[in-house]
Amino acid sequence: MTTIQDNLLDWLRDAHAMEQQAENMLSSQVERLEHYPQLRARIQQHLEETHQQRAQLETCLRRLGSSPSTLKDLSAKIMAFGQGMAGMVMSDEVVKGAMSGYVFENMEIASYTVLIEAAKVAGDAETQRVCESILQQEVAMSDWLRAHLPELTQAFLTRSAAPGVEAKR
Ligand code: MG
Ligand code: FE
Repeated sequence: MTTIQDNLLDWLRDAHAMEQQAENMLSSQVERLEHYPQLRARIQQHLEETHQQRAQLETCLRRLGSSPSTLKDLSAKIMAFGQGMAGMVMSDEVVKGAMSGYVFENMEIASYTVLIEAAKVAGDAETQRVCESILQQEVAMSDWLRAHLPELTQAFLTRSAAPGVEAKR
């Protein structure tokens, strides 16, 4: 058997690793984006939120007498590195990046929805509050990406069809 508390801790460590992956993905996107300033600025903003989220999760873990999982964090970083490398060889990197970002945000939304419920069941009001506030940031980022995908697609297609203009990033 696994206690409610152990599941909660395990999912907090998963979320910490997920934010680690997010930090790596978002920072490589910010570094590479050149011709899409609005997208770059929004990703920069979410990168800063993501640093905070990771720190908040660490605080939750320590308060509960635990710590992040080095192994989970490391494999998340490796995954982010692979995604970054894959993006670089794509001629439509910016579009694929925004699509992956949208998918990733929705994975985060699912994770925090589960964590909020687990914190409720565990009677851990502080973890619940932290996860609820993080969830709002993930929803906002997901909504922004979805709302801006059409104009990003248009901008990419226009640049792509123009001679001598770089479109991919
Ligand atoms: Mg996040
Ligand atoms: Fe996020």
